[in-house]
Amino acid sequence: MTLRIGWHGNLLMNLNAITDYWPELNQPHLRYDDIQPVIQALSQQKGICAEVVDRSYLGVPIHKLTLGSGPVKIFAWTQMHGDEPTATAAVFDLISHLVDDNASLPFDAFAQQFSLHVVPMLNPDGAEANTRFNAQGIDINRDAVAMQSPEGRLLRRLVDELQPDIAFNLHDQNPYYSAGDSSTPATIAFLAPAYDVSKSINPSRARAMQLIAVMRHAVEQHIPSHVARYNDDYSYRSFGDKISSLGASTILIESGAYRSDPNRQRAREMNVVALLSAIEALADDSWKSVDCDDYFAIPENIEDGLCSLLITNAQLRQGEQHAAYLADISIVGSGTSATIKHIGDLSNCAGFEQIDAGALALSTGNPYHLNAPFELEANHYKSLLRDGVTHFVGDATLLQNRSGLPVLVVQHPLTHILPEQVSCLLCSSRKGPTRPMLAIIGNNVISLAD
Ligand SMILES: [Zn+2]
Repeated sequence: MTLRIGWHGNLLMNLNAITDYWPELNQPHLRYDDIQPVIQALSQQKGICAEVVDRSYLGVPIHKLTLGSGPVKIFAWTQMHGDEPTATAAVFDLISHLVDDNASLPFDAFAQQFSLHVVPMLNPDGAEANTRFNAQGIDINRDAVAMQSPEGRLLRRLVDELQPDIAFNLHDQNPYYSAGDSSTPATIAFLAPAYDVSKSINPSRARAMQLIAVMRHAVEQHIPSHVARYNDDYSYRSFGDKISSLGASTILIESGAYRSDPNRQRAREMNVVALLSAIEALADDSWKSVDCDDYFAIPENIEDGLCSLLITNAQLRQGEQHAAYLADISIVGSGTSATIKHIGDLSNCAGFEQIDAGALALSTGNPYHLNAPFELEANHYKSLLRDGVTHFVGDATLLQNRSGLPVLVVQHPLTHILPEQVSCLLCSSRKGPTRPMLAIIGNNVISLAD
């Protein structure tokens, strides 16, 4: 594929020009109260029409922003899963850029060719609760047929009314997907959803694939090897697949992790890059010269390719009387709620953080029973850890943690190192009297060296 670098060639090299609009949206999570002022401000701008199109199950407004009145209809929605906010910030950046005097594509030209309809935060109730589901407990993205959620019914109504040529279904994915068989996180994953079980390719799905190849090229100018292709198994209950079957060229974008980027601002930028590059390719028809094979050439989005903390080559033993063995351990999640994901040969996995435990034996350590109020200072905590006490059992309100270190309080003593259990590990020398070197509480590593 030879992609002509058009106006986006210069633009996309200058990321500040497309992502400096709403610094207040650089947050780990976004709720309705975070975006309402942004929508209010945008609604004052020339060229942007903002309206409330419906309300959530709990009655929170759901907004649609519209730009342009041209024949090519693009519809994008974000945060149908309430805990997936990255693209919500990105679509505000995109809209702000399109109406900016310094926009790379003059707004008048854009508005004559395109009608862009954006629903930011389709699921404000789920956003408020920081959960995937809506307030009915329904996964809106599995409600495309049953249509029991007001948010799902709204999405379907808008698709029927707008009859979009292009539909962007914008999500976040868990941080542990890798781009192909690599240790690189899939910061952006694309999918042209199937519209039948045999994964047929009609012209509208082909166009989605061609546009994705364009977007991949644009994104990889900035973050090479961080782009993946999502599994395209047909899911008849899902909106992407449903809307694909209705004839729109449907494109799923999953925002994923990037190293040292907890608020996913890299994925936010890359959403804007991707969406702008797709608009540019539609503006000049350059997508037509792209082959669908370029879509299939994108590495697959590999689940569990990464973990939060990978401990390699540890010596384990499930109880003193049982034999020791060597294994890797992957830990997922953050803080003291992180859990063990897998134990065994994890040579196919990489960690955002990694420890080689070559010389260390791992145990869960011992419990400390909380029976009375207990103020824990750092020195005392470290000496407890060195004595083998790794976790506290009982009423968490009794413990005043003044150590500045992560502390684990559980209801029952931990006894085994097994998948799905909370991560609580003491690492000691295998030889001689065991002297703990490291404690791993959740995904935090505490050095016990003097
Ligand atoms: Zn999602």
